[in-house]
Amino acid sequence: MSDCIFCKIIAGEIPSATIYENDEFKVILDRFPSGEGHALILPKNHVPNVFEIDPAQAGRAYALAAKLARAMKEVLGFTDMNILQNNGPIAGQTVFHFHIHLIPRREGDGINV
Ligand code: 5GP
Ligand code: ZN
Repeated sequence: MSDCIFCKIIAGEIPSATIYENDEFKVILDRFPSGEGHALILPKNHVPNVFEIDPAQAGRAYALAAKLARAMKEVLGFTDMNILQNNGPIAGQTVFHFHIHLIPRREGDGINV
Protein backbone atom coordinates (compact mmCIF):
# COMPACT_ATOMS: atom_id res chain seq x y z
CA MET A 1 0.00 0.00 0.00
CA SER A 2 1.52 3.27 -1.14
CA ASP A 3 0.78 5.38 1.96
CA CYS A 4 1.69 2.70 4.51
CA ILE A 5 4.86 3.48 6.44
CA PHE A 6 5.63 -0.17 7.14
CA CYS A 7 5.21 -1.06 3.44
CA LYS A 8 7.72 1.71 2.69
CA ILE A 9 10.12 0.25 5.26
CA ILE A 10 9.68 -3.23 3.74
CA ALA A 11 10.30 -1.81 0.25
CA GLY A 12 13.49 -0.12 1.52
CA GLU A 13 12.13 3.37 0.81
CA ILE A 14 12.43 4.34 4.49
CA PRO A 15 15.39 3.14 6.57
CA SER A 16 14.92 0.86 9.54
CA ALA A 17 17.07 -1.17 11.90
CA THR A 18 16.33 -4.70 10.74
CA ILE A 19 17.15 -7.42 13.26
CA TYR A 20 15.73 -10.42 11.37
CA GLU A 21 14.24 -11.12 7.97
CA ASN A 22 12.89 -14.10 6.03
CA ASP A 23 10.70 -14.50 2.94
CA GLU A 24 7.52 -13.63 4.82
CA PHE A 25 8.46 -11.30 7.69
CA LYS A 26 10.75 -8.41 8.51
CA VAL A 27 11.61 -7.64 12.13
CA ILE A 28 12.70 -4.10 12.94
CA LEU A 29 13.50 -2.05 16.00
CA ASP A 30 10.72 0.33 16.99
CA ARG A 31 11.60 3.95 16.16
CA PHE A 32 10.01 5.19 19.39
CA PRO A 33 10.80 2.27 21.70
CA SER A 34 9.00 1.65 24.98
CA GLY A 35 12.34 0.25 26.17
CA GLU A 36 15.67 -1.12 24.94
CA GLY A 37 15.18 -3.83 22.34
CA HIS A 38 11.52 -3.04 21.51
CA ALA A 39 11.02 -4.80 18.18
CA LEU A 40 8.18 -5.20 15.66
CA ILE A 41 7.39 -8.24 13.52
CA LEU A 42 5.93 -7.14 10.18
CA PRO A 43 4.44 -9.39 7.48
CA LYS A 44 5.98 -8.36 4.15
CA ASN A 45 2.52 -8.29 2.54
CA HIS A 46 0.24 -5.42 3.46
CA VAL A 47 -2.48 -6.61 5.81
CA PRO A 48 -4.09 -4.10 8.18
CA ASN A 49 -4.98 -6.03 11.30
CA VAL A 50 -5.92 -9.33 12.97
CA PHE A 51 -9.38 -9.19 11.43
CA GLU A 52 -7.95 -9.46 7.93
CA ILE A 53 -4.76 -11.49 8.30
CA ASP A 54 -4.79 -15.12 7.19
CA PRO A 55 -4.98 -16.98 10.52
CA ALA A 56 -2.23 -19.32 9.34
CA GLN A 57 0.02 -16.32 8.75
CA ALA A 58 -0.82 -14.98 12.21
CA GLY A 59 0.24 -18.36 13.55
CA ARG A 60 3.58 -18.16 11.73
CA ALA A 61 4.08 -14.61 13.03
CA TYR A 62 3.53 -15.78 16.62
CA ALA A 63 5.80 -18.80 16.11
CA LEU A 64 8.49 -16.36 14.99
CA ALA A 65 7.75 -14.21 18.04
CA ALA A 66 8.40 -17.19 20.30
CA LYS A 67 11.73 -17.94 18.59
CA LEU A 68 12.88 -14.33 18.62
CA ALA A 69 11.86 -13.85 22.25
CA ARG A 70 14.32 -16.58 23.25
CA ALA A 71 17.12 -15.26 21.05
CA MET A 72 16.61 -11.68 22.25
CA LYS A 73 16.54 -12.78 25.90
CA GLU A 74 19.88 -14.51 25.44
CA VAL A 75 21.49 -11.58 23.62
CA LEU A 76 20.03 -8.65 25.57
CA GLY A 77 19.89 -10.24 29.01
CA PHE A 78 16.43 -9.10 30.10
CA THR A 79 14.19 -11.31 32.21
CA ASP A 80 10.60 -10.79 31.01
CA MET A 81 8.76 -9.69 27.88
CA ASN A 82 5.42 -8.35 26.66
CA ILE A 83 4.25 -9.66 23.29
CA LEU A 84 1.25 -7.70 22.08
CA GLN A 85 -0.63 -6.49 19.10
CA ASN A 86 -3.15 -3.64 18.63
CA ASN A 87 -6.05 -3.74 16.15
CA GLY A 88 -7.89 -0.53 15.27
CA PRO A 89 -7.53 2.98 16.64
CA ILE A 90 -9.68 2.46 19.71
CA ALA A 91 -7.37 -0.40 20.64
CA GLY A 92 -4.33 1.86 20.20
CA GLN A 93 -3.20 0.88 16.71
CA THR A 94 -1.39 3.78 15.04
CA VAL A 95 0.18 2.05 12.03
CA PHE A 96 -2.43 0.11 10.09
CA HIS A 97 -0.18 -2.70 8.91
CA PHE A 98 -0.38 -5.79 11.16
CA HIS A 99 2.56 -6.00 13.56
CA ILE A 100 3.51 -7.79 16.74
CA HIS A 101 5.35 -5.85 19.45
CA LEU A 102 8.17 -7.59 21.31
CA ILE A 103 8.91 -5.50 24.40
CA PRO A 104 11.69 -6.66 26.73
CA ARG A 105 10.87 -6.01 30.39
CA ARG A 106 13.31 -5.39 33.20
CA GLU A 107 12.74 -4.88 36.93
CA GLY A 108 11.71 -1.24 37.58
CA ASP A 109 11.60 -0.23 33.91
CA GLY A 110 8.37 1.74 34.40
CA ILE A 111 6.90 0.70 31.06
CA ASN A 112 3.11 0.80 30.82
CA VAL A 113 1.66 -1.39 28.09
P1 5GP B 1 0.87 0.49 17.11
O1 5GP B 1 0.59 1.70 17.94
O2 5GP B 1 0.23 0.62 15.74
O3 5GP B 1 0.55 -0.82 17.77
O4 5GP B 1 2.43 0.46 16.90
C1 5GP B 1 3.08 1.18 15.92
C2 5GP B 1 4.53 1.26 16.32
O5 5GP B 1 5.28 1.67 15.20
C3 5GP B 1 4.79 2.27 17.44
O6 5GP B 1 5.40 1.60 18.55
C4 5GP B 1 5.71 3.29 16.80
O7 5GP B 1 6.71 3.74 17.68
C5 5GP B 1 6.32 2.51 15.63
N1 5GP B 1 6.69 3.33 14.50
C6 5GP B 1 5.98 4.35 13.95
N2 5GP B 1 6.64 4.85 12.87
C7 5GP B 1 7.76 4.12 12.75
C8 5GP B 1 8.86 4.17 11.82
O8 5GP B 1 8.91 4.99 10.91
N3 5GP B 1 9.85 3.27 12.01
C9 5GP B 1 9.83 2.34 13.01
N4 5GP B 1 10.88 1.50 13.11
N5 5GP B 1 8.83 2.28 13.91
C10 5GP B 1 7.81 3.15 13.77
ZN1 ZN C 1 1.59 -1.84 4.75
